[in-house]
Amino acid sequence: MSTKPFRVLLYYNYVTIEDPVEFAASHLKFCKELELKGRILVANEGINGTVSGTFEQTEAYMEAMKKDSRFADMVFKIDEAEHHAFKKMHVRPRSELVTLRLEDDVNPKEITGKYFSPKEFFEAMQQEDTVILDARNDYEYDLGHFQGAIKPDIKAFREIPDWIRENKELLEGKKILTYCTGGIRCEKFSGFLLKEGFEDVAQLHGGIVTYGKDPEVQGELWNGQCYVFDERISVPVNQKEHVIVGKDYFTGEPCERYTNCANPVCNKQIIASEENEQKHYRSCSEECLVHPRNLYVKEHGLTEEDVQRKLEELKEENTMPAMS
Ligand SMILES: [Zn+2]
Repeated sequence: MSTKPFRVLLYYNYVTIEDPVEFAASHLKFCKELELKGRILVANEGINGTVSGTFEQTEAYMEAMKKDSRFADMVFKIDEAEHHAFKKMHVRPRSELVTLRLEDDVNPKEITGKYFSPKEFFEAMQQEDTVILDARNDYEYDLGHFQGAIKPDIKAFREIPDWIRENKELLEGKKILTYCTGGIRCEKFSGFLLKEGFEDVAQLHGGIVTYGKDPEVQGELWNGQCYVFDERISVPVNQKEHVIVGKDYFTGEPCERYTNCANPVCNKQIIASEENEQKHYRSCSEECLVHPRNLYVKEHGLTEEDVQRKLEELKEENTMPAMS
């Protein structure tokens, strides 16, 4: 029995969808009839979605999906929630589910790393000659990650193949463990690693969200929170202890609160306390502070003079990065 009025479903399946554009249109209609909200991507290679709704709505969705042979074996990760996790319902056709932009794409149905259960992953992480590779974006890592995990120095996931090729010596001869939020990125990424010639590659089956719910490991060896792509922004993982690894963008103090830079052209995700957000007009740089479209300035009815005064004040204190 659920104790909260809503549920959030997270799911994916690598399976051939013949006409993603047509599928997306009819699936959107179906989701709207069920009054779900969320974001679903559809490609030739499969489906990837997060949707929220009431217990009944999400049950009806899962039941209907399982009747379709393409999705009969799809795993739904279920979280309880107080509210919808989205404002609207989108179903979008895409050329790829996971953007790696490889010249020779990886089909996880043909090649992918070993699947490790949370328990197996937990034990493997503590073995010698093991490297733990975070297969997510830097802003996701910054909010929380496995203890000792390597953060590839990339701005977007599609840059990871190049990073691997430039940093082979970190991984050669090692047992490689990869993880991501729900598992979809690792299916391809671990396959890519095998294709690159690494032999011992395993992925966390079901991703971080499954690991955090496993009754045995209870999220152990995870520090911080898990970033999620909906209005919740983050979910807890480690049920035994909570170590904060997030750092306030402006002061470096421990912090787990995400916000977006007020310059809509930048929109960079930064970790900041409410106090520091206000103090810096929610701007990640001087450039963004003085940007003519700064939303914080608009929302608060501030004038150009206010902005100039703020700029001087922050320059004096020297807490604002000069340029992003
Ligand atoms: Zn910015």
